[in-house]
Amino acid sequence: MHTIDTIYIGGAFATPQGRDRAPLFNPATEQPIGEVRLGDADDVDLAVAAAKRAFPAMARTTPAERAVMLRRLRTEVAARASDMIAAMAEEYGAPSGFTGFSVQHAAALFEDMAKTAETYEFHRKIGRADVSMEPLGVVAAIIPWNSTLGFIASKVATAIAAGSTIVVKPSEMSAIQTQVMAEAMHAAGLPKGVINIVNGYGPVVGAALSTHPDVAKISFTGSTMTGRAILTAAAETFKRVTLELGGKGPQLFLDDADLTTAIPIAAASGFVNSGQACIAGTRLLVPQSRLDDVLLGLKTHVEMLKVGPATDPAAQIGPMVSQKQWERVQSYIRLGVEEGAVLLTGGQGRPEGLARGWFVRPTVFTQVTNQMRIAREEIFGPVFCVIPSRTETEAISIANDTSYGLQSYVHGRDIDHAKRVAGQLQAGRVVINAAPHEPLAPFGGFKHSGIGREYGAFGLDAFLEPRAVLS
Ligand code: ADP
Repeated sequence: MHTIDTIYIGGAFATPQGRDRAPLFNPATEQPIGEVRLGDADDVDLAVAAAKRAFPAMARTTPAERAVMLRRLRTEVAARASDMIAAMAEEYGAPSGFTGFSVQHAAALFEDMAKTAETYEFHRKIGRADVSMEPLGVVAAIIPWNSTLGFIASKVATAIAAGSTIVVKPSEMSAIQTQVMAEAMHAAGLPKGVINIVNGYGPVVGAALSTHPDVAKISFTGSTMTGRAILTAAAETFKRVTLELGGKGPQLFLDDADLTTAIPIAAASGFVNSGQACIAGTRLLVPQSRLDDVLLGLKTHVEMLKVGPATDPAAQIGPMVSQKQWERVQSYIRLGVEEGAVLLTGGQGRPEGLARGWFVRPTVFTQVTNQMRIAREEIFGPVFCVIPSRTETEAISIANDTSYGLQSYVHGRDIDHAKRVAGQLQAGRVVINAAPHEPLAPFGGFKHSGIGREYGAFGLDAFLEPRAVLS
């Protein structure tokens, strides 16, 4: 059993002032695996005060000094890779492919920000003005449970590159992963108070950070609904806010798509992180003329996907994080049937052979219209909606007929043509034919998928304030 009973403030692990405890579960077995003692608003005050004390010295560091700190963090995070993978497998249940990627990705984020800090133009001359990009002050990062290591890494890395200090509030469901990450970051030996971590419930610790007068900026990743609450709360003190919110990503199959590669790519993009991903491409827009072939290929492929616990090296799709999340996905599958969509494969209940654990059946709905709730709302599980279109223009119009705009996908052989289609999509990122991740390119959403961008120079811009001195 794990007992996480400390938070990280001012360079030391300390007992929280808060007394609430939250249980931790293994989502693959539904068994309790420990508990976490949670912080409260008093802990937020202490953490923000520590970050505020550390800020002036941090703001005076050079980009080269920040790059050194970032590389120390990368080294210490990479050194704990096996503990992080074990924590993620036990507490989150993700398949081994995803846990391995997540840990590498987390370490790489520090290196990416080190490079960005080294090349970023912190000082610019504009006419007679000397423009300097200044750190904002104390940053608060509020993050969800679906990619804890990566979210902590990217937000901490950006704050440090900017010369800021940070207080991180992770999800209470990620306490074991958070603890390993906190230990790794502690081992990097940064000045006390630069990094602080307070576990706690959203409406308690998250809300206290969102209204705290000494927090200058919130960097939030999570649901659109919570993002709206944070934006509203932060308005009172004019905090700078970056929001990376939900998605309902379209995947456009163009007339010339090679289905033998496009179908596995589409399944991987839609069921990434067991479907618990804001970037998941869950609306498949298919030309009417190719519908039969796509459905046949999709059914065969999806039925071959292995659902199972992290302990099964062949598993490609893991459990949902919690019973609540499992029930949410079940309710959407029920809703799809009620709305008149037709199940091509999957459906309610657990996959065959898995009697326990918050596993869901990879599900594909056909005969979906873009007005159905299953096509408009983010389900956050492995559930596809296949929507036919008569023309490419209609497919683009359906793709954009959504309140979201985070990540879209285009499948087609003619890359120039695919790029012309991509240029018409209202999305912060468009991925053509499984193009690899581009770590320094901006990431973030149009419309209700968020405000601002993360990663690389665009991500750093959002943590800085320009000051123009005219002489
Ligand atoms: P999810 O449902 O995926 O957990 P949320 O958007 O609810 O997504 O949660 C993301 C993060 O926001 C979590 O750390 C959560 O505790 C926090 N959170 C939830 N409600 C609030 C709130 N009212 N104010 C600030 N943070 C919140």
